[in-house]
Amino acid sequence: PEVRELLVSHIRDVPDYPKPGVTFKDITPLLADAKAFAALSEALAGICAQRGATKVVGLEARGFILAAPAAVRAGLGFVPVRKAGKLPGATLSQSYELEYGTAEMELHAEDLSAGDRVLVIDDVLATGGTAEASLKLIRRSGAQVAGVAVLMELGFLSGRERLVTELDGAPLDAL
Ligand code: 5GP
Repeated sequence: PEVRELLVSHIRDVPDYPKPGVTFKDITPLLADAKAFAALSEALAGICAQRGATKVVGLEARGFILAAPAAVRAGLGFVPVRKAGKLPGATLSQSYELEYGTAEMELHAEDLSAGDRVLVIDDVLATGGTAEASLKLIRRSGAQVAGVAVLMELGFLSGRERLVTELDGAPLDAL
């Protein structure tokens, strides 16, 4: 409960960003605060242990900032899922639907092995499209999904429902 308070109090609502009518949840005040950032990293590392993860996947770009310190704290390796065209090696690629058009995420498949249990970390779960694509990439690599952990879930966008199939019973934790 105290951790939740600490985290919530360092998230800023930015009205009409990135477009009119949208309220953006800005996590930069949390990242700038040593105590809040440490508490977040610690909480995410705890979820890694609780879910029996053997690897941590972070989603570009803010997911990287949260996932990397959590992985180090949990004693696990970090694997990035990136927007198309950013990874230099052999990639698996997964496209997904946006409000207008499609987007594509990629993974270096060789960074995961069949025995891995992967925890996906991102800052915000909105419609769930990004997380869903990452879960598909992990499954296509042959690894298992240990779960998804996010700082915030925007419940009114029903991302949790969108993830049901790809989670296949694995937990979704929202701090
Ligand atoms: P989704 O694919 O679930 O619709 O969108 C989630 C992705 O968009 C995440 O990678 C997240 O970083 C970003 N995102 C969407 N809305 C917000 C927001 O209000 N605040 C932040 N920080 N990121 C957001």
